[in-house]
Amino acid sequence: MITQDERDAIRRHIEREIATLQRSINTLTELAESDVQADANDWFSSKESNASGEINEMALSKSKQRLMVLNEVLLRIDKPEFGICVKCNKPIAVGRLMANPTATRCISC
Ligand SMILES: [Zn+2]
Repeated sequence: MITQDERDAIRRHIEREIATLQRSINTLTELAESDVQADANDWFSSKESNASGEINEMALSKSKQRLMVLNEVLLRIDKPEFGICVKCNKPIAVGRLMANPTATRCISC
């Protein structure tokens, strides 16, 4: 079973990742906005700048999705079913949860 200390450690781990994600979301949002302005100012906006904009957009939506998943984990981290494999009902190894807090299955499932 997961101990309270381990839960706290995983929670801190998630909160750190959330902080990092929020920073990169802010940066990507600013980049996306400056891209739009650059496009408006530049009649000959190159394909390259469009491509980088698309990559940023992808990274942005990926980061937002990850952020959502992590926030969901934070909501259920204190529940008894947290850390229990959804398939076989056995506890998921703490090391695995540390490495990937969104894991809902144990290593053998
Ligand atoms: Zn399992």
